[in-house]
Amino acid sequence: MKVAQISKPGGDWELVERAIPEPGTGQVRVKVEACGICHSDVFVKDGGWPGLQYPRVPGHEVAGRIDAVGVNVTEWKTGQCVGVGWHGGHDFVCDQCRRGDFAMCVNRKVTGFDFDGGYAEYLVAPAAALAAIPEEVPAEEAGPFMCAGVTMYNALRNSGARSGDLVAVLGIGGLGHLGVQYARQMGFETAAVGRGKDKEPLARQLGAHHYIDTDAGDAAAALQTLGGARVILATAPDAKAISALVDGLSANGNLVMPAAPREPLTIPAASLFLERRSVTGWYSGTARDSQDTVEFSVLAGVHPMIEKFPLSRVAEGYERMHSGKVRFRAVLTMDE
Ligand SMILES: [Zn+2]
Ligand SMILES: [Zn+2]
Repeated sequence: MKVAQISKPGGDWELVERAIPEPGTGQVRVKVEACGICHSDVFVKDGGWPGLQYPRVPGHEVAGRIDAVGVNVTEWKTGQCVGVGWHGGHDFVCDQCRRGDFAMCVNRKVTGFDFDGGYAEYLVAPAAALAAIPEEVPAEEAGPFMCAGVTMYNALRNSGARSGDLVAVLGIGGLGHLGVQYARQMGFETAAVGRGKDKEPLARQLGAHHYIDTDAGDAAAALQTLGGARVILATAPDAKAISALVDGLSANGNLVMPAAPREPLTIPAASLFLERRSVTGWYSGTARDSQDTVEFSVLAGVHPMIEKFPLSRVAEGYERMHSGKVRFRAVLTMDE
């Protein structure tokens, strides 16, 4: 099989032939049809992820079909459409797992980090990492739901916001263009916050009721004129823009961080305690959360906007993502 691998931190993309792997106990083999390129894949490309071993095949937005089933796998069948996402499995025995919080497993695995991922014609994954994908969802759309999609959907449905509440999505990129769609479809009054006037038509097309241009004035004040945001979902990698938006929260409002900007946030504590506001992190979700994400997306008509690249053009697809030029998710496909 063909795979795209990285041999050392900072190494170039290498397209190599490997033997097709066999699934072990509790694992399945997936014939990959598509795999999204996520910004987190920079940790494989450039290094900086603790314990990551090379060579490594990245890719945790995988969609394809089960091609072989290992022993002790009872719920999954050859030929079934599945996705494999960021959550690459858990140990079932640590304290977090014993409490049923598998995403917080102390021995959790990340697909394409702890084992080879979906920049490949086949991958082997634990059955616990599988999401069932409805047949009607194209693989190149299903892939991005496995990381970007579930992160947005799961963050919002656990955010404490209720239908009708004002929810602001900061940033309209790979994460944010899905976040805006979910916020609208989940019944929130939806504000998209972006830089520049030119993003407004797209934000409206994605379902935003309001568009706030951070170049045009004080975005926090603009949110306050709308009553203050119950939740701000911060997807832009800009710590300054995120920190500046905290004063746009309502009382008891929650700034949700589903990703990490390079710089630390700078937030005056007074902005938090005077209005009983909070800042919380959100971490992805389990495979069933990813399946919920796809099922909701089908119901509500949520679609990722993608650019497709064949596996042989992985370097080009990665560069489109890394430079921020891609609109809005780069997806590798396995057919040339
Ligand atoms: Zn990701
Ligand atoms: Zn565990």
